[in-house]
Amino acid sequence: MLLCLPTALRIAAKMEASRTTRFAPPFGSGREPFGSFAITKARRRHSPGSQLISQNAAYPFHREDVTRQAGRRLACQPSDADTSHMLRASRAVIIAFLSGVGMAQSLPCDAAPREIPIAITESSDRPDPRKIADYASAIDAIVRVLMQKFDLPVPRHTFTIYRTREEFEAALIEHMRLAPALAQSTASFAQAAVGGQRILVNEVEVEKLSWPERIELIAHEITHTVQLELAGHRSLVRQQWLTEGFAEWIAYSVTESLGLDDLSRQRARIIALLRAEGGVGSLPSLAEMNTLAQFIGARRKYGFAATFSHSFLIVECLMKRHSFGAVVEYFRHFKVSGNYAANFHLAFGEKVEDFEAESARCLTRLLI
Ligand SMILES: [Zn+2]
Repeated sequence: MLLCLPTALRIAAKMEASRTTRFAPPFGSGREPFGSFAITKARRRHSPGSQLISQNAAYPFHREDVTRQAGRRLACQPSDADTSHMLRASRAVIIAFLSGVGMAQSLPCDAAPREIPIAITESSDRPDPRKIADYASAIDAIVRVLMQKFDLPVPRHTFTIYRTREEFEAALIEHMRLAPALAQSTASFAQAAVGGQRILVNEVEVEKLSWPERIELIAHEITHTVQLELAGHRSLVRQQWLTEGFAEWIAYSVTESLGLDDLSRQRARIIALLRAEGGVGSLPSLAEMNTLAQFIGARRKYGFAATFSHSFLIVECLMKRHSFGAVVEYFRHFKVSGNYAANFHLAFGEKVEDFEAESARCLTRLLI
């Protein structure tokens, strides 16, 4: 539960830290940004214009930006409020709080987000999956499939639902360390984000989806927490086609297991879509979907189907060539080493370059 005063303390601490600390540099610098992996996505299956936003751009925080966010959070200002007013208000709140005046208590606070443990519930009363219409039941059903059918370790993270874009935006900064400008643009359309042992949910966007679509989305995001758990919570910022493709495959498998969808129908839909978009020749290479930044760039350049759905097909090819268990082992190898190429070779017994040639043949057979 987020409370105003502890939040003020954390933000004040961040402000203090930002005076001397520059966070890790952006992508492509060769340094791993932060210690956690996180990705958010906005996926509207029927809206090809939707965008992916992924975090860890790792821009440095600026004191003024954090203060502006503090103003929005602490003073509960509307999003179109005058910035300079918010800056003054937030500074006043923080200064007053730090000096013991307790002024923050007199200001209205954000409503606390809803928090649901990501775990199997104790309840024996499980609804028909086709009638699920609440997050707790959806999470329970998904986690049961992940643990009982796929034997995957689901960490006890928290599913946190933010009712407004402003709260979601503040949470992206607090829990995922997004730069304020990126948090603001992300919150304008992103549905969810994974990081800081949480799945952050932008309810404004997610409530536009049907419940089967929400279950597919939640299963995708929970799969990212599983990947992190397997990897010992090491950053997973390379070979994104594998990370995203596996999350897509699991999400479709979960909805199929719950009787909400059919994996073969989804596969046929994706193949038809990719054929219509130009087939193999119009798809990005694995190298173009390697880092988070590259995956975002490919998503923008080629679209959702050519990145996420394409990655789903590649991972299916990978699992047919090797096995589901080999993919799980790939993520487990990160507990020991952060060397992506070495971990790929250890898990699959071949270099990623060799697999790419096989993947091209596999996709050609599918998309011809
Ligand atoms: Zn994802």
